[in-house]
Amino acid sequence: MYFKRLLFSAALASTLLTAALVSPEHALAQTQEPVLAAAQHEKAPLLDTLKDLVSIESGSRDLDGLDRLADLIASRLKALGGEVELVDVNADIYRMEDTPERVGQAVRATFKGTGARKILLIAHMDTVYLKGMAAKQPFRVEGDKAYGLAIADDKQGIAVILHTLAMLKSLGIRDYGTITVLINADEEISSPGSRKLLSRLGTEHDVTMSFEASQAESDKVALATAGIGSVTLRVKGKASHAGSAPHLGVNALYELAHQVLQTKDLSRPDTGLKLNWTLARAGQNRNVIPPEAEAQADARVLRVAGYDEIEKAVRERISNKLLPEAKVEMLFEPRRPPLEASPASLALAKHAQAIYRDLGKELVADAVAEGGGTDAAFAALETQNAVVERFGVQGFGAHSNDAEYILVDNIEPRLYLATRLITDISRGRVPKP
Ligand SMILES: [Zn+2]
Repeated sequence: MYFKRLLFSAALASTLLTAALVSPEHALAQTQEPVLAAAQHEKAPLLDTLKDLVSIESGSRDLDGLDRLADLIASRLKALGGEVELVDVNADIYRMEDTPERVGQAVRATFKGTGARKILLIAHMDTVYLKGMAAKQPFRVEGDKAYGLAIADDKQGIAVILHTLAMLKSLGIRDYGTITVLINADEEISSPGSRKLLSRLGTEHDVTMSFEASQAESDKVALATAGIGSVTLRVKGKASHAGSAPHLGVNALYELAHQVLQTKDLSRPDTGLKLNWTLARAGQNRNVIPPEAEAQADARVLRVAGYDEIEKAVRERISNKLLPEAKVEMLFEPRRPPLEASPASLALAKHAQAIYRDLGKELVADAVAEGGGTDAAFAALETQNAVVERFGVQGFGAHSNDAEYILVDNIEPRLYLATRLITDISRGRVPKP
């Protein structure tokens, strides 16, 4: 709220910043006013961009929609001076149970500067929604909220990146080495095509900033996100007439029920490991002893080692069978690794907090993983370089059927933060751990 009052005019903002907010150790105070003014200047254009991005439906399996959106994003990045290419990631695909035949292409842009530091900015263009749902949630601004399908997850992320680049351009800031932008099209299906590319780019850059939305209830960046896996149990029994010869069958459903119940207490609150059975099916006909049954559990881990822990624990338990003749098979699928807070990530988040404080605002830097997983974890998988998530605008309602929105008042602080952070990284002002 204080920030809002600051923005009456650039001049007033500057006066207030110098007079009331900036302590002597913040020697950068004088140079911030142009950045603040540029952030103000980009707010309305950013909302226009969001309208365009939200108007193109782009579910993860809607290849036509994704292509149209990719073209729009590519042309915007080109106009900002980037070297742009569409990347077909289908050759790299990691196939999971729900992976479609093909995934949409990613947009990659490269901006060359005069310095040495390499910075990666990521967001995703695909959504969880089905074609036709946008009609019920068109773009609109009401008070402090801008609504629209997928506006928070993750179209605001694309918009913040585009307008941060516009600010760097208008401010004449070019002392980064390389800024790479990657907007992928398969995040909501666990990035089967782009995960490899994300991990490679993560190791090739000094810093990765990921632009998933911050949360409406907490203005934050995230240093850790959960890893997601799935456990599938497949039981094979033997069919038989349920009325006249049930004793000749092997009831796969009974065995499955036994297995699910004896693995229901493997969650470990002390390590953040969670295992919950969520899907099950068995049999084909009421009057047949089911020869097959299958169940799936959702698994969450906070450390990569948690995957082995879960797999081992389930494997041990399932050797104890209810029906000796039943066959029990287990499939463990790590879908998305956890993001763990590295010392470099902590240092970057601390610097981000200091920048936010110049605006009289507190930025939460959360090192405790929430439930959801993100692409930042792929970027961090093979490196200890700084990878920080949730540089996007505060939002609410991701994956819901109505009322997905972002907080309009959070646009300027986030543009200011991203622009200042990129500048400070480029100029070697972010202390290394
Ligand atoms: Zn997302």
